[in-house]
Amino acid sequence: MSTVRLHNVTAAFGKRPVLDDLSLTVPSGGSLAVIGPNGAGKSTLLNAIAGLVAYHGEISVGTTPMRAMARSTRARLVALVPQSPLFPAGMTVFDYVLLGRTPHIPYWRSEGAADVAITRMSIKALDLSDLEDRSVDTLSGGERQRAVLARALTQEPEVLLLDEPTTGLDLGHQQTFLELVESIRHERGTTVISAIHDLTVAARCAAEMVLLSGGVVAATGSPATVITEDLVRRHYGAAVEVIATSGGPVVVPLVDQTTPSTTEPTK
Ligand code: ADP
Ligand code: MG
Repeated sequence: MSTVRLHNVTAAFGKRPVLDDLSLTVPSGGSLAVIGPNGAGKSTLLNAIAGLVAYHGEISVGTTPMRAMARSTRARLVALVPQSPLFPAGMTVFDYVLLGRTPHIPYWRSEGAADVAITRMSIKALDLSDLEDRSVDTLSGGERQRAVLARALTQEPEVLLLDEPTTGLDLGHQQTFLELVESIRHERGTTVISAIHDLTVAARCAAEMVLLSGGVVAATGSPATVITEDLVRRHYGAAVEVIATSGGPVVVPLVDQTTPSTTEPTK
């Protein structure tokens, strides 16, 4: 079971707390969307779970605190798709995706047929087959995004952390990506935590949401509870209209059109 629990988690860069006494639970096989304005602490939260940021308090997966886990155990268990991944120059897409197997391969042997088969499956799932011999540094932004997810899937993690994964993807690939994550969650019982920039997309991604603001949980619950005109105004400083639809709330920015535009055609 891979329930993710954060208990009184505090993280700071210098003296400034970025996560302030944060507690939350994501049940095994559940999906949580984390939203919040720029600098709210979303990436820091995901990085803390991935063991990349120091914190006080406790983070556990299942019944085991992350601190008590060997680094190799943690690497098999948790995959992070970072906001700005680094790409090794000259590495092919295939080899890059195969890197996801690294935590599963003991140091005394190289990858086996099963590792290659899993790599091929991820490449196919992310529509990268035509690109597998290309060097990762020649890919477009959206193609890179897909390569990073393919690598994370190849890892077969129990917990998948996605940091703004659909930013830079076109609508078609955004949809395929989100559906794929959902199908993996259903098939494998993977626990998914995603930081999502777009509130409308976030509302469709997860039944449970957390609104982070200034490192604390400002609201939590269903998309309809968390995405309200009032909360968006208070925490994003934005005037929006929230329209309730059967697929969840849709957020429409209100643009003040009373200010004359400088680009308006002259008569
Ligand atoms: P979000 O992902 O919600 O936009 P982050 O978690 O990236 O926010 O950042 C939260 C705050 O922590 C921001 O104010 C950011 O400037 C600061 N921060 C993030 N990483 C570092 C770092 N390595 N050193 C110093 N400050 C950082
Ligand atoms: Mg971020």
